[in-house]
Order: sequence, then C-alpha cells, then structure tokens
Amino acid sequence: MIIYYNTFIGDELINKISDIEFRQIVDSILSDKEGWPQYGYKFIHDIKNPQLKIYIRGAYETEKKLCKGLPGLSCTRFKKNGDPIDIIINYNNWIGGSKSELSIEKYHKYVINHEVGHWLGIGHTKCPIEECKKRGYTSCPASIMQQMSKGPNHISPCVESYKPLPYDWIIDDPTKSPYLFSKTNRFKTKSGLTQNKAKSELAQNKAKSELTQNKAKSELTQNKAKSELAQNKAKSELAQNKAKSELKQNKNIDLKQNKNNNLKQNKNNNLKQNKTKNGLAQNKNNDLKQKNKIFIILTIVIILILIVIIIVIKNRIHNFISIQLLK
Ligand SMILES: [Zn+2]
Repeated sequence: MIIYYNTFIGDELINKISDIEFRQIVDSILSDKEGWPQYGYKFIHDIKNPQLKIYIRGAYETEKKLCKGLPGLSCTRFKKNGDPIDIIINYNNWIGGSKSELSIEKYHKYVINHEVGHWLGIGHTKCPIEECKKRGYTSCPASIMQQMSKGPNHISPCVESYKPLPYDWIIDDPTKSPYLFSKTNRFKTKSGLTQNKAKSELAQNKAKSELTQNKAKSELTQNKAKSELAQNKAKSELAQNKAKSELKQNKNIDLKQNKNNNLKQNKNNNLKQNKTKNGLAQNKNNDLKQKNKIFIILTIVIILILIVIIIVIKNRIHNFISIQLLK
C-alpha cells in the first residue's frame, strides 16, 4: 500500500531545526526495509496532497496545545470518528530530552516508527515476553508500539528497540495485531497482493540469505579441511624430519661409540703389546742377569779348582823334590 506523506516544522522552530534535514531523516526511516515497508507499506514524499502529515513542534506547543495531557511525549492525533489527523513530534524529545536510553539516531527511528504505527491503526502494546520465550530470546526486544520515551523501566522486561519487530511477529503487524484501534483498520495493506508480494520477497530474501550462509559455511568447512590437511601434512613432515634427525643422531652416536670402542681396543692392544714387550724385555734382562751370575759363579769355581790344582801340584812337586832330596 502506498502512503503519500510530507514533513513540516513549527514556526517556533524555524531557527532551531532545518526543514530539509528533518525531512531527510524521516525519509530514511520510512524507506528502511526493516521498518514499516517489511509489512507492505511504501511511503512516498508528496508536497501537494499528503495523506500523512508529520510535524515537529516545540515542547510547549506539543505538550500544552497539540498533545494535551501527554507531558514529555509526542503524539498522533485522531478525529472523533477515528480517522488520523497528523503526527506531532516533540522537539524536546527529538533533540534527546526523553527518558529513553537509545542513541539519538535510534530514538529518531523509534519515535517516527511508533507514531506512524499509531497512524496505521495500532495502539500501545505489551512486551511480547511469551513469544520471546518461544523463540529462545534471552533478551526480549520491545514491540515498536511500547512507549520507549518513558524510559527502560516502563518497557521492562523488554529492552528498548527502534523498529517494528520482524514480519512473522504478529504483535507489530497492522493487519493482525491484537492491539488495533477499532475503527482505524483502513490502513491495512491490500489483502492479498501487497502482503503476498512482501511475504514472497521476504521468503526469497531468506532463501538467498540461507543459500549465502550455506555457501559461506561450505567454504568455511572446505577451508577448514584444507587447513587441517595442510597441518597434518606439516605435522607428518615434521615427524618424518624428526625421525630422520633421530636416526642420524643414533647413527652418529653408534659411529662415535664404535670409534670410541675401536680407540679403546687399540689402546688396550697397544697397552697389552707394550706390556708384553716390556715383559719380554724384562725376561731377557732377567735371563741375562742369571747367565751373568752363573758365569761369574762358574768362573769363581774354575778359579778355585785351578787354585786347588795348583796347590796340589805344588805340594806334589814339593813332596817330590823333598823325596828326591831325601833320596
Ligand atoms: Zn504511543
């Protein structure tokens, strides 16, 4: 459904806010695909004959004159028969004076989406805590039709949000919401065409998104597998290199040991040989010494025998001479 709209600033704000800037901000909020367009609405800026008129007015004008009985708030005004008149945005809230803790950009989105929600026919809602539980949400986003301008405590246990809940949350749907104003259901999207188109686009986008996600997941898995393969290869090479290195080391150790053993043996052999040589030499010396001893003893014995013989012979000669003389 197409809704033609225009923005206006109050005379009291002419030197405080730019007409163009306000319109640009509202334009961007109303054309956001995650905003009301997800429910099949298309907002077109129209200066001449707008259905939806969005004003920004000073706090005094808003609270004392235009939105009577609603201090500190913006409002959507209705005729007695329930037809919407216009939307009045409170300038004080627009520049950050509300109790909301949303950033100023998000508060702008909240307040425009909230008041346009009223204009489309939805009243204030409660926190969709049961739906959040079903969906497994630990932090439950507030419905756009809760009053964020009254501060976080007012919307508890929900947390502040700034755009309508997604299409499949019934609570913010202007055609199905249990909080619809009784007579303002005229702004529901054309039953059938627009909604089906929107649904179809949503489904397509979802399918595309899932496809992209699956592709990304698949690539991720492949990359992971590749990475693991590379890692395993690297590990295997590392293990092989380590094994080779150990083998070399063992070989070197064996070689060294063999060398050492050989050296030791050679040393021992040399020692033994030397020992043997020394032994032989000693034996030789001992033999020589013994021979010398025997020789000396024999010589002495021979000399003694010779002396005895000489003595005997001398005696015999003497006896002979004596006998001869005696004779
Ligand atoms: Zn409201």
